[in-house]
Amino acid sequence: MKETSPAFVISAPSGSGKTTLISRLIAGDGRLEFSISATTRPRRPAESDGGSYYFLDEPDFLKMIEEGAFLEWARVHGNYYGTTKKEIDRIRAAGKIPIFDVDVQGAASLKGRLDRAVYIFIVPPSREALETRLRNRKTDSEEQIQIRLRNAIRELAEYAMYDYVVVNDDLDEAMDRLRSIITAELCRKEDAHHIITGILEEPRDNPAR
Ligand code: ADP
Ligand code: 5GP
Repeated sequence: MKETSPAFVISAPSGSGKTTLISRLIAGDGRLEFSISATTRPRRPAESDGGSYYFLDEPDFLKMIEEGAFLEWARVHGNYYGTTKKEIDRIRAAGKIPIFDVDVQGAASLKGRLDRAVYIFIVPPSREALETRLRNRKTDSEEQIQIRLRNAIRELAEYAMYDYVVVNDDLDEAMDRLRSIITAELCRKEDAHHIITGILEEPRDNPAR
């Protein structure tokens, strides 16, 4: 994939279903690669280091901020999260399209720093659905659930910063919408230049045609 191929930046209020959608998306499309962030959040039982996140303690994270290791970082729900420059280099070197899972602060920071990116916001169908999903997930304490619900209201107000909004009501339908956005964005004329040039430069076997 060329350097100019787009990156996809995806945000959502916690509990909207972003992790579920992104993992399905990446599992079904070999062109895409998840950008693994660093975080100081405690690891959940189903998570592995270097799988969903690189889990760090706070002093190590703060040291990395000082060293300029992050393209962007933010404090979210009381923990630090950040996208390392090294991670983007890893994905680009593999010729893949990066998928960034960041909060609204992270999306705003990336806006000035990525050459070409598409911003997608995933939202729940209702406040009630969001609360039910956060509780059913059973990964967060009651205190964390309350923090995440309060933050959801603030984050939803930022939707205008994004290019697309995907309502995650029915999971399969939301998946279709997300895939359609990726497909459409990869059909932009910017990505067709090398194909068109290749066709135009092909030697003609019949000059009289
Ligand atoms: P996020 O990454 O946005 O915090 P998750 O992907 O962890 O959200 O999803 C939160 C919970 O909601 C999970 O238990 C997940 O299985 C469930 N979930 C995701 N999408 C849907 C959906 N469309 N309908 C019902 N439950 C969903
Ligand atoms: P969770 O703890 O539920 O995995 O993630 C909490 C929030 O942190 C989500 O909104 C997620 O998008 C965000 N997040 C994850 N990684 C990063 C990152 O590298 N940078 C920023 N700014 N936010 C992140």
